[in-house]
Amino acid sequence: RQVENAVLEVSNLHKRFGGIVAVDDTSFSVERGSITGLIGPNGAGKSTTFNCITGVYQPDGGAVTFDGDDVTGWEPPRIANRGLVRTFQIAREFPEMTVLENMMLAPKNQLGEHLWRSVLPGARSGVVEQERELRDRAWETLEFFEIDHLAEEYAMNLSGGQRKLLDLARALQTDPEMLMLDEPMAGVNPTLEEKILDRIHALREDGYTFLIVEHDMDLIMEHCEHVIVMHQGRVLDEGAPEAVQSNEQVIEAYLGG
Ligand code: ADP
Ligand code: MG
Repeated sequence: RQVENAVLEVSNLHKRFGGIVAVDDTSFSVERGSITGLIGPNGAGKSTTFNCITGVYQPDGGAVTFDGDDVTGWEPPRIANRGLVRTFQIAREFPEMTVLENMMLAPKNQLGEHLWRSVLPGARSGVVEQERELRDRAWETLEFFEIDHLAEEYAMNLSGGQRKLLDLARALQTDPEMLMLDEPMAGVNPTLEEKILDRIHALREDGYTFLIVEHDMDLIMEHCEHVIVMHQGRVLDEGAPEAVQSNEQVIEAYLGG
C-alpha cells in the first residue's frame, strides 16, 4: 500500500527465534496523524513487530523508517528520543513509587540518563529549573488523563485501568510524535476504557500518531481508520475497518486461532 504521508514505514521486517519465524518479511506503513490498528490472533507476531520497531529486538532483516530516518537497529532510548515511544503489554511502572514519582522517572527510563537532560524543555537551564518544568509537565499530563488526584498514590494501589492511564501519561512525558500501544485496553473496565479512547482521540486531534495493538477486534474496528491484520508473522490484509472485517481470510484466521 502506498501511503502519501507515512510517518512510520516497515519494510520486509524479519525476526526469528531459533526455528520459529515470528515476523516473516512484513511490510506496512502508518499514516501521520492516524490511529492505526494492528490486530491478529495470539502468536501472530504483533508484539515482536513492536519490539523490532522500537529497538527492543534487533530484526534479522528488513528496515524501519521513522519520520524520514532509517532507525533500524537503533537502541530503544535513541528511538524514543527521536519521537517514537511505546507502552508494553505488561505495564512497567515502579509499583513502590508514587504516580508522580513514576512520571518524573519516565523520561530517564525511556531515554536513558544521558539523553533525557538534553531533550526536555529547559535543557539549557539549571537542574532545579528542569525538575520544575518536568514536574509541571507531569501535573498537566496527569490532569489531562484525570488521574491527578492519584499523584501521591503508590502505583501498586492503582486499578488495572488507572495503570494503563499512567502508562499513557508516562509515554507522553518525553513529548513524542508517535505512540505505539501494546494492548492498552487489556483488563480495563468499560468506564475507563471509554476515557482512554477519548483521550487517544483528543491526542490525535493534537497531531499525535497512534499504532495500537489490541486483541479486541470490535474496539479496533470502531476507533481506527486503518487496520493491519497479521497472521503467522505476515500481513494478511489491511485497509478500512469495514473492508478488513468482511475478509473471509481474516475471519478464518481469528476463528481458527
Ligand atoms: P502476538 O503478540 O501477536 O501474540 P508474538 O509476537 O508475541 O505474537 O509472538 C509471535 C511468535 O513468536 C509466537 O510463536 C511466539 O511464541 C514467538 N516468540 C515471541 N517472543 C519470543 C521469544 N522471546 N522467544 C521465543 N519465541 C518468541
Ligand atoms: Mg502480544
